[in-house]
Amino acid sequence: MKSKLSDHKLKKGKFITPINSIPLMQELSDEKSWTYGRMPEYVWIGLILHTLGRNEGLNKLYKIILELHKLAPDLSTARLSQILKLESDIQKKFYNFIIGEIGREVLAPLTVIATESDNPEFCEAFFMVDLSIEERCDALTDTMKKIMGHQTHESTDIRFVALYYYLLKGRMHLPKQQIELITSYPRLSHGAEEMRMVRPSVRSLEMMMLNFEEPDSIYIQKFWRRISEMTECTLYTLEFPIEKRDIDEYMEKLHKIFEYLSELYVAVSPFEDKMNVLLGIATYSYKRLKEAYEHNLFNSISGRNCVRGLIENYMMMKYLVKNEANHENIWKDYKLYGLGSYKLVLAKHREFGAEGEPHFDQGYIEAIVNEFKEEEFINMDTGYFNKQGIREKFDSVDEKLLYGLYYDYDSSFEHGLWGAIRESSLLKCNNPAHQYHCIPDIDDIIVLKSVMPDCVMVMNKTLSFLDELYSLPKALFEEVIGFEIKSFNGEDDANTN
Ligand SMILES: [Zn+2]
Repeated sequence: MKSKLSDHKLKKGKFITPINSIPLMQELSDEKSWTYGRMPEYVWIGLILHTLGRNEGLNKLYKIILELHKLAPDLSTARLSQILKLESDIQKKFYNFIIGEIGREVLAPLTVIATESDNPEFCEAFFMVDLSIEERCDALTDTMKKIMGHQTHESTDIRFVALYYYLLKGRMHLPKQQIELITSYPRLSHGAEEMRMVRPSVRSLEMMMLNFEEPDSIYIQKFWRRISEMTECTLYTLEFPIEKRDIDEYMEKLHKIFEYLSELYVAVSPFEDKMNVLLGIATYSYKRLKEAYEHNLFNSISGRNCVRGLIENYMMMKYLVKNEANHENIWKDYKLYGLGSYKLVLAKHREFGAEGEPHFDQGYIEAIVNEFKEEEFINMDTGYFNKQGIREKFDSVDEKLLYGLYYDYDSSFEHGLWGAIRESSLLKCNNPAHQYHCIPDIDDIIVLKSVMPDCVMVMNKTLSFLDELYSLPKALFEEVIGFEIKSFNGEDDANTN
């Protein structure tokens, strides 16, 4: 179940997910944690439950732990590391009992962890020649997938058995009511209403055992080392289709619209700042889309920067028009603001010089900065244009959602924030034995979801805005706006408007 924004606790201005606000989950490598520290100890119980199913598994385990209690009255835990340390003949008796109950095969996978040299009794009892290392590892990782989370039904079953064994010792004194709750556990199915209360009790009591136990670091480290060495990475990625849909017709018509606007500009108002600015911004969007289209960047990181650029340009056009009346010379100031930023870089280049072959061309930029107004008169403003942050600007032109749903996401890519890095450049290994680590995607296995429909969506908004101002030729405008991107299975895409 996905957590909603409202479930997050606002902690010092940051949203903390519900999972992370539970302190224990932050410490995955803690030896007291379930996943890293306890699961390897109780994985033998997990194998039995996973192989035999819950009912039979719990029945057999009941007999098995009673026997363990009888054979080793001083042993207060069902941790595998401690069972493996029992006296040789006690171990042998216990393993033979298990084999008599459930056969050899169920625990055979553990012989990749408890090896001949360290644990001869275990190996002798459970080693099976015809079970390959791969099969043993597969069986282990299959079970681990179900029990990596500390609150899954499967892990709770295991934690119940571990707790039950501890309670057999009679060292934990519980109120009668709680004892009844615990003993009802194996008889109830996970669907039962009472379980909503019983499961958390089992888990919290199992956690209490931690106060009396000393983690066996050597065993835990050995478990993770051996199982991760012996299993391969299973890389996991969502495969989004590579963008191959044809928008040639759209791009051709878009070109016609910009041709029309350019002619209009030259014919009617070549010296008007307003049209100069608006058409300039729109053309910049057009060129960005064209680049993405010509180089098929729709599935790439650059494609995300393209959508972001289109969105910001569109917002800026609306913003400038909206503030035109209450900001004298907004069009000139907008240009000056941009040239001021250029001037700042220019000054740095003059002062420090750049090595190699910088893509900033000092002479050319100097000409651009000076073409409009003598450089000396351009202020250098390092704040946001018109003293308003980007989010407020989006708000003020009623494009809050465009900001929240799109711009913010693409900004992560622009700034190289971790979400974007994880999504675009790191592959997840789906092998629980590797504790779900990540691997650099240097061979481009990741295909990001196409940005093409969103590019078209924002471009169409831009065109509609231009249409309000300059009345584009009706037929042409409607053809462009009405262009439908086919969906990947050949039907009309519903996401383009
Ligand atoms: Zn891996």
